[in-house]
Amino acid sequence: MKKVGAVSRFHRVKPFRFIVDAHEDIAENAMQGRDFRLSALEKRRLETPPDSHKGVATLGLPELLQGDVRIVFATLWAAPCNAPEDKVKPCYETPQQAYDLARKQLEYYNDLAKDPRIILIRSRTDIDRVLNPDSSRLGVVLLMEGADPIVTPKQAREWFEAGVRIVGPAWHATRYAGGTHMPGPLTELGRELMKEMEKTGLILDMSHMAEASFFEALELFHGPVIASHSNCRTFVPTDRQLSDEMISALVAHEGVIGTALYNGFLQPDWKQTDATKSKVTLADVVKHIRHVCDLAGDRLHAGIGSDFDGGFGAESIPAELDTAADLRKIGEAFGEAGFSQTDIDNILGGNWVRLLRRALP
Ligand SMILES: [Zn+2]
Repeated sequence: MKKVGAVSRFHRVKPFRFIVDAHEDIAENAMQGRDFRLSALEKRRLETPPDSHKGVATLGLPELLQGDVRIVFATLWAAPCNAPEDKVKPCYETPQQAYDLARKQLEYYNDLAKDPRIILIRSRTDIDRVLNPDSSRLGVVLLMEGADPIVTPKQAREWFEAGVRIVGPAWHATRYAGGTHMPGPLTELGRELMKEMEKTGLILDMSHMAEASFFEALELFHGPVIASHSNCRTFVPTDRQLSDEMISALVAHEGVIGTALYNGFLQPDWKQTDATKSKVTLADVVKHIRHVCDLAGDRLHAGIGSDFDGGFGAESIPAELDTAADLRKIGEAFGEAGFSQTDIDNILGGNWVRLLRRALP
């Protein structure tokens, strides 16, 4: 006899499909006065004219839920005062100031998790709670972008206990590693951090790591690795993107690579001053992800890390997208490009979930 539960599954008309977005700067935006719980459209109404540093809002909890986004990797990001560009206030001069800024963002997420629609994901059990077709909640995995808030490598454990599950040592260069536009290897502290992160069970996010620090880290660190928001250098030749060699190395370590949906990372000649939003389309997203898949020899190592709200907005994302509710259109673009439904499901979320299940306690 069939169980009742098994029978009721057949009554579900729509298969359960979900999206994972591996990079959103939710707390940083909140520090700049954006309430994540408000829809992007409501934010736009409040921000007229749009703030030139933030761009036209694309992200809000309502759009993410509407768009079937069930998990986001949300950053703790503190801005260094010595950044060559990207002046953000407040910024940090000392490790303690970086720590304080990141703690504030952590408190924001803890507050946010009081909303019944949000769950902070710390374990595999939390993933199951979120990926439940009968409830509509957003799971948030905390990702520290730029490790300066970790005052000493031993403190990695304190952050883990506070809920952080992913750490990217670099943004620009940090006390730990060479980074975007500031090349260099791991520092002595950085080498120690790799060991502490592995012992603690943290995931290593290699986005923003300079090439020297990237390859050194892969030798020292034996835990799970990702690049939460990095595109292909072969199409956009700057040190912010991943070379083919870096992509292959990530794949060899069972990593997953999130493609960012910022036009400037999708096409090299795109400029924000262009009034030509339509120049970059989802075909560019498919092109980057297809390249990762070709290097991997399968479709199990690519995902999305939109970086929506990472200092740009609707004016700077592919033409078909307006808010996060449109992320599922990426699946349609892959369908038109001949990807199977299984491959699409993996790229939109399955690959990230598999990595999380392997990595989380
Ligand atoms: Zn970033």
